[in-house]
Amino acid sequence: MALNELVRVEHLVKYFPAGGGFLGKPRAFVHAVDDVSFTIIRGETFGLVGESGCGKTTTGRLILRLLDPTSGKVIYDGQDILRLDGNAMRHMRRKMQLIFQDAFSSFDPRKKVFDIVAEPLRVHGLASGSQLRERVAELLVTVGLEPRHGEEYPHELSSGQKQCVGIARAISLNPEFIVADEPISAVDVSVRAQVLNLMKDLQEKLGLTYLFISHDMSVIRYLSDRVGVMYVGKLVEYAPKSELFKNPIHPYSKALLAAVPVEDPDQRREREILEGDVPSPVNPPNGCRFHTRCKFASPVCSEEEPPLLDRGGGHFVACHSF
Ligand code: SF4
Repeated sequence: MALNELVRVEHLVKYFPAGGGFLGKPRAFVHAVDDVSFTIIRGETFGLVGESGCGKTTTGRLILRLLDPTSGKVIYDGQDILRLDGNAMRHMRRKMQLIFQDAFSSFDPRKKVFDIVAEPLRVHGLASGSQLRERVAELLVTVGLEPRHGEEYPHELSSGQKQCVGIARAISLNPEFIVADEPISAVDVSVRAQVLNLMKDLQEKLGLTYLFISHDMSVIRYLSDRVGVMYVGKLVEYAPKSELFKNPIHPYSKALLAAVPVEDPDQRREREILEGDVPSPVNPPNGCRFHTRCKFASPVCSEEEPPLLDRGGGHFVACHSF
């Protein structure tokens, strides 16, 4: 493991059983994540992008061990987290947190904001009494709320404030790594930038490392240092952000990027319309999974899966033709 690596994902696979068959055996499997490998550097934001159902959320949950993989490894700070026992994993959980897509649905609506933010501190026995009150007040202020918000119920808050409560809860245990799963998709458009800026500020202040999951390339561009593109359970390309946005290589990444509005007319890309539907992850195509929609596909593309290879400078691409 390189010195500055915090997370290393090796050949991660997650298949979910789909539909009951004979004697309760699954009839098929959803290939949600299929042989995905990448690393996350300490202090960076690694953006994971792709259409809905491409496996990015499952990847995030596997890294946090909220799901057990079918196979593969997750190495966190040199430790294989899949080998940790209950106690060791509980300790590890303090370092790794999740910001939910819809903060509100992750809250107990009967609890006040104070108790929602205080919960992880209580569960881990880290604070009580006045110390707990001070810590929660401090956390609320850190995310731009006021201590008085602790006395409110989640339904009394705006969508942006709810997500701030979710962020306060996520940072309450002083984690070093956060998986943020579409953290602004349930937030009003008018305050999305505010939530993103808060996440940026917290990263700097607290030295956080993010895995930032989104279907929105503009948001990924704003926050990420490196970007990975997923398609039907596969990582098809990843690179430093500036490199990926300047020089996308995989035809799927090119199509995603072509849809992103750019301010400079000289940089405007020809808009590509992706033909055809996203294939089912229950029965993904052989070879390159993108071959059913790719205008550059050749016979080898439907027969052999292209390996993810470094094209130089940490720019990895899985494509036979480019
Ligand atoms: Fe297209 Fe073939 Fe490259 Fe897949 S491997 S993206 S089908 S050219």
